[in-house]
Formats: sequence, structure tokens, C-alpha cells
Amino acid sequence: MKILLAEDDALSRTLLQRTLQRAGYEVAAVEDGCRALAELSKEDPPRLALLDWIMPGRDGIEVCREVRRRKDHAYTYLILLSSRETKQDIVQGLESGADDYLTKPYDAEELKARLRAGERILELEDRLVEARESMRFQATHDLLTSLWNRGVIVELVSREMVRSRREKWCNAVMMCDIDHFKKVNDQNGHAAGDDVLREVARRLQTSVRSYDMVGRYGGEEFLVVLNKCDPSSAVARAENLRNAVAAKPILLSTKSLTVTISVGVALTTDFPNRDADDILHAADMALYAAKEAGRNCIRLAQPGTLPPAPEAPHAESPVLISHK
Ligand SMILES: [Mg+2]
Repeated sequence: MKILLAEDDALSRTLLQRTLQRAGYEVAAVEDGCRALAELSKEDPPRLALLDWIMPGRDGIEVCREVRRRKDHAYTYLILLSSRETKQDIVQGLESGADDYLTKPYDAEELKARLRAGERILELEDRLVEARESMRFQATHDLLTSLWNRGVIVELVSREMVRSRREKWCNAVMMCDIDHFKKVNDQNGHAAGDDVLREVARRLQTSVRSYDMVGRYGGEEFLVVLNKCDPSSAVARAENLRNAVAAKPILLSTKSLTVTISVGVALTTDFPNRDADDILHAADMALYAAKEAGRNCIRLAQPGTLPPAPEAPHAESPVLISHK
């Protein structure tokens, strides 16, 4: 494990560095507070730091305060070293953000035990961060396909519509539905059905650009949002998605299966002053038209297919009123 050692006294620094190296640490040794902060700001910095209180430039207390001010770094476990040992000194040291305090002359075994305690805290911190990340992932993603879940993708449609209106560009909202999916399940079992869903999700995801968005809208229904989409190329882009699914059969454990999707496309520029619900409704109606037309095809939602929008009192009114 990497550890930062900041100590201005050359002899103490060398002795301490040796003790730490013998204990198995990879030591970055510096002689003042400014260099200590520079080390802690590097990429993949040490998570453990031993800081002398009195140092030229910035002292140990200032380094602790500065490290605690940063919010975008992983936690650093800080131990202050000092020959000051009154209660007030210890309180001041801990108040500045240090996790622990060791008075000089230090005992090597005690130092090592305190470092191990620090490592335990860091491990705990890492596990908490991991658990939080995993919970965040589960709350925002569909667990079968790892795509955005319905709540998130609908929210993204809403947010991107506000942005596209402001920036005056077009977003294409595509409702993609696997054709005859019930038959896939009935004839091959639900495990095969899940494999098909995962593979279709993967093909959709790899067919769009990194700033486009793909989510699972419902059972076998996926929502794709293409940002800044040239309206004249939207149908061709939808055709790419359709083809990415249909072109090659999907390999299941016992056989391979050709699967197709139908796609309903709605362009935000065709539906000015409409909200996300309306656009999703328009895409859904276009999807229905694609199904009616024989499936494995694309249909573009036509402006005018939605009932007229209620008159808004002010075109720029920021207040959202639900008319449902
Ligand atoms: Mg000193």
C-alpha cells in the first residue's frame, strides 16, 4: 500500500521511511506541506498519509484542512506527527481533519498498529462506496439487460427534450419492439427469451453513439433516444437499428433464432411545444403502425397525429401544468 510521509527533518524522515518500507509500505517521502499536497493531488494518490505538524511552507494542520476541503477525492487517512502533546494540541490536530495523532518520539510498533487501523477504515470506506455505487446502478438500470430502466430513460427523454428545444436541434425518439416475442418465450422457454432480450439490448446499444441513450421501456420494448439527429437521416438511423437486430440470427444454447424488431420514430422537431409523454405517445402510435404494416419495419410519426395541445397561456411559461 502507498503511503505519503511528509517530514522536514531529514534524519527523522529517513528513519521513518525505512520503518515504513520494512513494514511493507510503498513510501512517497517529501519535506514540506506543499509537496505533500502535490503528492495527494496526483492521479492514484496515497490513501494513507503521515504528516509532521511543523513544516516549512504549509504545516501539517493546513495540509489536513486542505485535504478535507476536497470533495472529489477518495478518502485519505491522515495521521499527524508532533512533539506537541497537550490536550489542546491533540484536539486542534483532530479538529483540522486528522484521523489520528501520534506524538514524537513515536514507537514503531504503535505506529504500525495505528496504520493498520487506518487501513481498516479505508477498506470500510471502499466497501461503502462500492455498495453505494451498486445500489445506484440497481436503482437506475434494468437488471436483465443493464440498460437504463424505464424511469430513467423516460426522465432522460424529458430532459433531452428541454435541451433540444433550447439548442434548437432535433432528437429522435425510437420505440423498438421485438416482433412475436411471446412466441419466442412459448417455443423456447423464458431463459431463451431472456437471452434474446439481452442480445437485442446489446445490439441496440452498440449501434448508437456514446451520447445516445438506450433504455428498456417495458417487457420486450426498448426506447432509443438519438441526440442531435438530422431529421432527414432519422429513418436511416432507425433502419440501422432494425438491421442490427435482424441481420444475424441470435445464438441460443440449443439453436439459433432470427429475431426482428418494429420501430416507431418520433422527431421532437415535428412536435414542437409537446412534452415527453406526447412524444412517447407519438412514437408508440408509429410503432403500432409498423406492426400493422407487417412488422420488421420502421414508421415515422406524422405531425398532426396527436390531438391538439391545449393552448398555453404563455409560450415561454416555465410552469408545467398537467392536463391529464
Ligand atoms: Mg517538523
